[in-house]
Amino acid sequence: MIHQSIPEKPLMCLGIESTAHTVGVALASSKGEILTNVNAVYTAPMGQGIHPREAAQHHCEVIPIVLRRVIDNLDGLDAVDCIAFSTGPGLGPVLRTGATFARALALWLEKPLVPVHHAIGHIEIASLMTGAEDPLVLLVSGGHTSIAAFGDGFWRVYGETEDITLGNLLDVFAREAGLSFPGGAVIEDLAKKGQNYIELPYVVKGNDVSYSGLLTAALKRLKEGHGIEDVCFSLQEVAFSMLTEATERALAHTERKEVLVTGGVAANERLQSMIDSISRDHGVEAYVVPKEYSGDSGAQIAWTGILAFQSGVQVDVEKSFVKPKWRLDQVRIPWR
Ligand code: AMP
Ligand code: MG
Repeated sequence: MIHQSIPEKPLMCLGIESTAHTVGVALASSKGEILTNVNAVYTAPMGQGIHPREAAQHHCEVIPIVLRRVIDNLDGLDAVDCIAFSTGPGLGPVLRTGATFARALALWLEKPLVPVHHAIGHIEIASLMTGAEDPLVLLVSGGHTSIAAFGDGFWRVYGETEDITLGNLLDVFAREAGLSFPGGAVIEDLAKKGQNYIELPYVVKGNDVSYSGLLTAALKRLKEGHGIEDVCFSLQEVAFSMLTEATERALAHTERKEVLVTGGVAANERLQSMIDSISRDHGVEAYVVPKEYSGDSGAQIAWTGILAFQSGVQVDVEKSFVKPKWRLDQVRIPWR
């Protein structure tokens, strides 16, 4: 008698990201593959911040095009086992655009709908890409500045911003200084040419950071006539040192053996070198999410959708409300 084992078909998840500037659709498999990842970014008119309704309008216009590009690589959407969407946190109108699209697809295709927390998406895509298993996470992006470690079913927050996020600090500074959006990479380039450190406020309270005073002071230094390169250099040194100090304390406290940096600001080489330095001091492994997956993307939602769906997480369409203020430490994680 011939025994033939039939290989199990991997699960496929279509993930939809829509929390802020980026709208994305991606396809992930339970083998840990990101098969397609198509993203489009809304940019506000020069000198202006994100306008939630205009961003939602942009996402509404481009999402069918983005989905079409994902489907072009497939034989059809029948191969998809579930639809995941970023449920929060984020801007209400933008979240609702992505959620409405996800609900319509789930109903039309008769597939389960899986709610995904956007920040957990940043952590899980970084874990997948780096192989980090139980890290202390430094999540730095437009929407988040958090230091977290996993314990007893939840991500526990060991430090966070008391006001604006690190990405927001960089983007608003860039905007007010007449630099282009997004500001992080532009500031990084200018900072490399900075020679002189200019005194700026360094504010760490307990294990939290506060960036709004730093933003005001850095803009004031520019008005006082200091060169943009020196101000960018000093801004990075102070903002990143504050977080590195808090991360080091959390590392000592949690005794994790890995540090994982994720989110859009993780692409910054100066921040990476600071985290690398404390990691070496503590004899722990430092991981950084690959640049391709550092900023918001459909991939982080599709992959986290796989993990959640495999653990039985799904939501009825009628109850699939978005959660603009959903905190990272409020989400029970059954798969870790
Ligand atoms: P996300 O919210 O995860 O999409 O990340 C977007 C944020 O990452 C924005 O605030 C960008 O300014 C920031 N960012 C992107 N590249 C860099 C970089 N090289 N250095 C610092 N920040 C960056
Ligand atoms: Mg993000």
